[in-house]
Amino acid sequence: MRNTRILISGASIAGPTAAFWLNRRGFSTTVVERAPALRAGGQAVDFRGNQMDVLRRMGLLDEVRRHQTGMGPQLVLDESGKQVAAMPPEFISGEVEILRGDLNRILYDATKAGTEYVFGDWITSLTEVADGVEVTFAHGAPRKFDLVIGADGLHSGVRALAFGPEQQFRKDTGYHFAGFTAPNHLGLDRTGLIYNVPARGIMVGSKPGNATVNVGLWFSEAGLGYDRRDVGQQKKIVRELYRGIGWEMPKLLDALDNADDLYFDTLCQMHLEHYTKGRVALVGDAGWGAGPGGGGTGLAMMSAYVLAGELAAAGGDHTVAFPRYETEVRPAAEAGLKQAANAGPFLAPPTTVKIRRRNRSYKLLFRQPLLSLFLRMAVKAANTLSLKDYCAVRY
Ligand SMILES: Cc1cc2nc3c(=O)[nH]c(=O)nc-3n(C[C@H](O)[C@H](O)[C@H](O)COP(=O)(O)OP(=O)(O)OC[C@H]3O[C@@H](n4cnc5c(N)ncnc54)[C@H](O)[C@@H]3O)c2cc1C
Repeated sequence: MRNTRILISGASIAGPTAAFWLNRRGFSTTVVERAPALRAGGQAVDFRGNQMDVLRRMGLLDEVRRHQTGMGPQLVLDESGKQVAAMPPEFISGEVEILRGDLNRILYDATKAGTEYVFGDWITSLTEVADGVEVTFAHGAPRKFDLVIGADGLHSGVRALAFGPEQQFRKDTGYHFAGFTAPNHLGLDRTGLIYNVPARGIMVGSKPGNATVNVGLWFSEAGLGYDRRDVGQQKKIVRELYRGIGWEMPKLLDALDNADDLYFDTLCQMHLEHYTKGRVALVGDAGWGAGPGGGGTGLAMMSAYVLAGELAAAGGDHTVAFPRYETEVRPAAEAGLKQAANAGPFLAPPTTVKIRRRNRSYKLLFRQPLLSLFLRMAVKAANTLSLKDYCAVRY
């Protein structure tokens, strides 16, 4: 086997999954994560259709089920706070739903014995030479690896170093997202509430145990500038943009002040012509961040499985494996990007008329037979990629 020493950047979902499968296929893996420890937090992520297969193949489906959110319906409220529709769980929570942070921990636990994890560091340069990649780090000593995998999310550092600045791949939607944990002052029990005012969406959903809730805020705001690493500034922005909204918002804003897990990002998509370059490959959001509704977590894991499988099938020869990897995952990545392209206006319609129109369409959509039709469509997108049994494949 060639190219056995592999560096992975990012220890969230795609990174540990890549480590899991590469270890299993006989490669040795190092994961470097910018955060000082595993990052908790994040909303619930769900799996449906073929995405379930990757959990099954990893032997982690039972463990994921043990931590599943077990969410029931999410209630859509009108401007007076009255329920106008109920989203059935299979619509929003797929076949199994788990908090991102819980999934991250499960994947880390499944790989920590066989992988070298380095927290609090990141790659500062990648220099490809004939037999590998010379890598420098912000803190650690320079090292050489055979291949490098960027699993470092939407704003991937590996992508910037190997493919060029993010701007050339990025499509902004004009929408933004803020997610954090708050006390469950509403007493929600495995259920969620959805409330809108023009250009502002609010989703509150109970977390397992019901002591706390996940708050997800979607909003459009033209020309919003902010520092990605300045959480204080992000909290201030949210406070400003959600000021004066009644309903439960004042209490949620108070909880935001105390939240230590704010996730704040622009809803943008990454459109790349290639997911690999030389000895570098991108998996998950680093390659095709689609945004909410794009099945990003399932595909992040599936893409990591495919990359490891193709490398093993090619005896580690990346010049054979990388083009096959791209061919295999691109249709699913494109389907995810397409599916998520209009999530913003759907989650935070810009006017009262559009909020009411969306709520009316929810009422229809959540009734049979439209619901079955919609669920079949959602699974169709998730099923764009079928996982091969790579043990049997040799090129
Ligand atoms: C804390 C957190 C909360 C999230 N919350 C939500 C949410 O509420 N809703 C939603 O839709 N999506 C959320 N996401 C994104 C979601 O996890 C991904 O869309 C999806 O699961 C695909 O995962 P990924 O592993 O490709 O990327 P990500 O989950 O984004 O993981 C990327 C990882 O790389 C690390 N990283 C970033 N830059 C570097 C670097 N230069 N060097 C080394 N490591 C780096 C990050 O710290 C992170 O651990 C969240 C991600 C994180 C990390």
